Amino acid sequence: METEVNNIIEHSRKPDRSAQAVLSIVIPVYNEGDHIRSSIGVVEKILLDHQIPYEFVLVDDGSRDHTWDELNRMAQESKQVLAVRLSRNFGKESALCAGLEHATGDMVLVMDSDLQHPPALIPEMVRSWREEGYDVVEGIKSSRGKENLIYKLCARFFYYIIYKTADIDLGQASDFKLLDRKVIEAWKKMPERAVFFRGMSAWLGFHRKQILFDVEERVNGKSKWSFFRLIRLAVDAITSYTSIPLHFITVLGSIMFIWGALMGIQTLYMYFSGRALSGFTTVILLLLIIGSSIMISLGMIGIYLTKIYKEVKARPRYLISKCVRGGEEL
Ligand code: UDP
Ligand code: MG
Repeated sequence: METEVNNIIEHSRKPDRSAQAVLSIVIPVYNEGDHIRSSIGVVEKILLDHQIPYEFVLVDDGSRDHTWDELNRMAQESKQVLAVRLSRNFGKESALCAGLEHATGDMVLVMDSDLQHPPALIPEMVRSWREEGYDVVEGIKSSRGKENLIYKLCARFFYYIIYKTADIDLGQASDFKLLDRKVIEAWKKMPERAVFFRGMSAWLGFHRKQILFDVEERVNGKSKWSFFRLIRLAVDAITSYTSIPLHFITVLGSIMFIWGALMGIQTLYMYFSGRALSGFTTVILLLLIIGSSIMISLGMIGIYLTKIYKEVKARPRYLISKCVRGGEEL
């Protein structure tokens, strides 16, 4: 790999938006051994063509194929590649965390390793950061690429709930983002264990610009998200951003209470007027409705309780087994 561009990075430095400002590209990688080298090559060529000083932070999220061999080799060959290997598969969000915490550039770009985020947009994003002074330049999906109908409907429902409850519009948001150093530093101050990068970066604010892009087809292999993993991510994301489901339980309880009072009056009236035997339907319905609402409500509380439990345990978000840059193990 060429080392034409000088990227000596100081840790305590002034904000630098000159042409020498270094771009860190953070990429979580999971079982992408077959194409990771060529994908990085594509991105690197664009950076060299536009003379953008860069470093790659490639995080191997516990891959089971030869991904680490590839990353390791790249990091042996070039000082501009930092390869981080996590001790097991922690999931994309945690891998992203590891990458963001190890990035040293003046700006940090987050992207996927499968080229679904078009690297051709990078120079434009860097220009918006450098010349127009934006702190966050985020890629917005103008179309969602190839997804089946059920997946699309679920995604839409999920974003709708987040939007309604947490007031954060993530409908078209993606993880393809360029962030200024100060945004990264602000992000590092968020201590939660359960991370959801898209939501967290929306919460941070700062001077933002949105750039539309079309989601490309995956270069190789298939998406790593199973349906259940997506559901888990959705529940995690919703419960991380809003406690409205908990308030909803109180509202539900109040409605049941009012209804209960009315039914009570009616029951007493029936009793005193000597017409009390009928009404099994009402009893059955009441049992079913109350029983299921209590169970759902307990479940909701359970979800939040688990979250608190996990946060209280305060385990690290990820563990690193190896870290290599320019042939040296760090
Ligand atoms: N990824 C990861 N850990 C995982 C799953 C995925 O680091 O457990 C990475 C993957 O290598 C890719 C990115 O996250 O760089 C997006 O994954 P994928 O393309 O499978 O997701 P999709 O594009 O379908 O959202
Ligand atoms: Mg993908």
